[in-house]
Amino acid sequence: FQVPIPQNEPVKEYRPGSDERAKLKAALAEASSKTLDIPMYIGAEEVRTEIQKELVAPHNRHQILGYFHEGDQSHVEQAITAALNAKEEWANLPWEHRASIFLKAAELLAGPYRYKINAATMLGQSKNAYQAEIDSACELIDFLRFNVHYATEIYSQQPKSSAGVWNRLEYRPLEGFVFALTPFNFTAIAGNLPTAPALLGNTVVWKPAYQQIYSAQVIMEVLKEAGLPDGVINLIYVDGPLAGGVIFKHPDFAGIHFTGSTGVFQQIWKTIGENIHLYKSYPRIVGETGGKDFVLVHETADPKTVATALVRGAFEYQGQKCSAASRAYIPSTLWDQIREYIVADLQAIRMGSVEDFQNFVNAVIDEKAFDKISKYIANAKADPAVELIAGGNVDKTNGFFVEPTVLVAANPLYVTMCEEIFGPVLTIYIYHPDNFEQTIELVDQTSPYALTGAFFAKDRYAIDLVTRKLSNAAGNFYINDKPTGAVVGQQPFGGARASGTNDKAGSLLNLLRWVSARTIKETL
Ligand code: NAD
Repeated sequence: FQVPIPQNEPVKEYRPGSDERAKLKAALAEASSKTLDIPMYIGAEEVRTEIQKELVAPHNRHQILGYFHEGDQSHVEQAITAALNAKEEWANLPWEHRASIFLKAAELLAGPYRYKINAATMLGQSKNAYQAEIDSACELIDFLRFNVHYATEIYSQQPKSSAGVWNRLEYRPLEGFVFALTPFNFTAIAGNLPTAPALLGNTVVWKPAYQQIYSAQVIMEVLKEAGLPDGVINLIYVDGPLAGGVIFKHPDFAGIHFTGSTGVFQQIWKTIGENIHLYKSYPRIVGETGGKDFVLVHETADPKTVATALVRGAFEYQGQKCSAASRAYIPSTLWDQIREYIVADLQAIRMGSVEDFQNFVNAVIDEKAFDKISKYIANAKADPAVELIAGGNVDKTNGFFVEPTVLVAANPLYVTMCEEIFGPVLTIYIYHPDNFEQTIELVDQTSPYALTGAFFAKDRYAIDLVTRKLSNAAGNFYINDKPTGAVVGQQPFGGARASGTNDKAGSLLNLLRWVSARTIKETL
């Protein structure tokens, strides 16, 4: 059977005076009036421990949203056991029953849970209403629906048979359990990483980033209400290396679905390599990692379009998108105009708490991120070869606020042109239009990453040249658009080089990693 091609979930705009804005405000008020007590979910149990850790709102570090119960190695072992115990029944459940649980979860998120999960993402991860809506509502709903659609395509792929012989492919889940290790910055990714393997019949141990536990718990609540059986996804809050220490030594470890930083992924890959003799099967390793995403501008580009793309691409969600524009290459002939537009746009932007819907910029995720970003900015301000065009101020008195900061570096290999900062810092290199071809080379060679990139031009020959020359520099390449905002089902997302295994989240390519097919030949 087939499920219909899903439509992308329409984005609500939360305009002043709208019913949807009133509902979201009510959800925020309700969330702020409570102090949450967040357990781990292992098998049928809600697990509470002696160690309770604070969840604070990044835009107001004095606001305690709740406490989560931190586990240790014993909880990782329990979660693995629960996943293995649930495996057989789940894998044998007819596919349409597994699928309908995730479709039901999408309906719940689109309806009664929409405001609750958006409020959790806003407060817990400091996203404004629009950024929360496109993440924890629309993208997560899209992942759930499109994955069901793509999984039906996988199951329908069958080999040829011949007279007297029936050949078939059986799409089994992996043997063992899958580990989902998720980042702070997207609720949708955190939801997709455990649910995509589970849809194909795998059972999962899920460890979210601590900064995302609030919205992770709402996802779990939704999945439970949608009918997900106990033990299929086990949500634990355990220190990453501690959890890894148990998981990566387990003989039934069958695969990791990871999104996070490049350094952590490389360390995990090494550990898996060192332990390879322990496992029953070669584990599937799927990872989406860091980026240093570029915007290259040709002299035929429209300056206003470029400026808007840079401001949105670099500063939405405080630059904490893996796809955020963080280095730009602008021809000297367009710079004055683009600069004027950028400065004017940034003067109009407001920064502050998520509860005030006028604020475009909110806080960065935590003190560690704040300190790291602040250091890059302070060093740049002290460097005579770097010009500060906008921003540059930081303040952590109440929340972790960093002004959208634009730098121009005389050296195209200046540190903020090369390293992932993961904050609202855009560095620009101004090139002479005669050096366009050398600048293309520079874009390709400046960073080890290849996640997203954008090129702005009207000249078709230039578009063709750059598309070919930068074919390995970005997994998602945008022509005349900002490098952020990939939509499930429309722009399958993922990068290569140091940016990941490029298995394209929310696509058939990703789902194929969570099956281990058996070929059956039956002589009739
Ligand atoms: P992170 O690497 O710090 O953490 C990711 C997860 O790994 C978290 O759950 C964390 O607790 C865990 N972890 C950390 N160290 C570990 C260790 N030694 N062993 C086991 N687990 C460990 O990443 P983050 O700060 O949460 O997210 C930001 C990063 O994610 C950025 O680098 C960003 O580019 C990347 N990202 C990439 C994509 C993509 O699609 N390529 C999407 C979103 C985020």
